[in-house]
Amino acid sequence: MNNPFAEADLIAVVQRTLVSVLGCTPDEVAADVAIANELDADSLDFVELRFNLEKQLGIVLPQKSVLDHLVVVLGDESQVYARGRLTELAAHALRESFFAYSSDQVSAGMLPHEVMGCATVRNWANLCKGILDGLPARCADCGQEQAEISPSGKPVCAACGAPQKPRTGDDAVAASIPGIVSRWMESRVAA
Ligand SMILES: [Zn+2]
Repeated sequence: MNNPFAEADLIAVVQRTLVSVLGCTPDEVAADVAIANELDADSLDFVELRFNLEKQLGIVLPQKSVLDHLVVVLGDESQVYARGRLTELAAHALRESFFAYSSDQVSAGMLPHEVMGCATVRNWANLCKGILDGLPARCADCGQEQAEISPSGKPVCAACGAPQKPRTGDDAVAASIPGIVSRWMESRVAA
């Protein structure tokens, strides 16, 4: 099924959620504001942000980080961290991940927690979008392939209105890693 949410829809969802979690005003949560570094969100705020996004969108966000998944796929931590800092491959993986960090945000040599600190409203919306791209092929109840957004803001079947659940965030991120790694390997060979 198609993902009925555009990036702008999901930015609006993350913004509304942050306004309620942090008690800030809508004009403070521009799309490119860093949620931890600029809005001073702490780890409890992130727990609440995640819980509310999951409830609002009917999704399951990843429990493990992109870097955790990368270590599992590579089976070798030394390709991901060098003295605790991101390798070129790790930085590449974060930029290519659902978060879609820019090269201004993430580069080799950063500490992992610095990446989370710089994650913006847009990065979180992109994560939700990546997960929502993984809806089932068709509605299990009626076979319809079109999805739409219900009045309550969740993905539903466009024909019968049955709620549609995408694969979990961890499954979606895990599935994305091999392609990210092989594109990295190809770019190294080409260079
Ligand atoms: Zn249906």
